[in-house]
Amino acid sequence: MVNLFNLTEEVSYVKYRVGYWRAFHNRLAPWYELFMLRALIFDLDNTLYPASAAMEEHTIARMNEYTARLLGTGVDEAIAIRRERMPRYGTTLEWLMAEHGFTDSEDYFTYVHPAGEEDLVEFDPALGPFLDSLPLPKFVFTNAPMEHADRVLEKLRITDKFQRVFDVRFCNLKGKPATTAVDGVIAAIGLPAEDTIFMDDIPRYVRGFIDRGGRGILVDHFGKHPESGLPTIKTIYELTAYL
Ligand SMILES: [Mg+2]
Repeated sequence: MVNLFNLTEEVSYVKYRVGYWRAFHNRLAPWYELFMLRALIFDLDNTLYPASAAMEEHTIARMNEYTARLLGTGVDEAIAIRRERMPRYGTTLEWLMAEHGFTDSEDYFTYVHPAGEEDLVEFDPALGPFLDSLPLPKFVFTNAPMEHADRVLEKLRITDKFQRVFDVRFCNLKGKPATTAVDGVIAAIGLPAEDTIFMDDIPRYVRGFIDRGGRGILVDHFGKHPESGLPTIKTIYELTAYL
């Protein structure tokens, strides 16, 4: 015979246990997420080294020179046009191809990324050991061509820290933040986007990654984007706060 008093008591007990485990699980959620973080994806320039490096300035100057020559304008005019039009695209190359019928991407890469460009990046002896201390597979996702990534990673002596580098040719010359680029990289890594974190110094590239289901962190060395609304770190060394 069922003892109604005991049954009621039993149901209460089960409810209590369920509530207990739910509360316990909620408390564990951040740890659970830690277990689900399975890959770190880094932008290269101004992310893996400080934005104070002079290389970017020189790269942009060469982009402006190339644009001026292509459009048949002076450099100042090319700068103004590029500043207005390029933000609609992932890269300057993509803009020139889309709006000016440009096709010789290899000539562009040769001019914009000459051998020796990496001389303006400083070797940081702490970077390699820091990357080694992060116990997750690491990847690079850059809008630059592979030869640039190779030079910079070698200069920083961190080439061997990464399982793979995804460059702009991998993205069929349509780089971040294009959906095709982000999805292609995530598919090649072979993990659910939400199990990965991507870090970049450009807010719209970080948002492009988040829009495809991943986690994103802005690396804002100079505090240029206080209104980004994105999780933000000043240098890559602060990444551990999010792991
Ligand atoms: Mg960058």
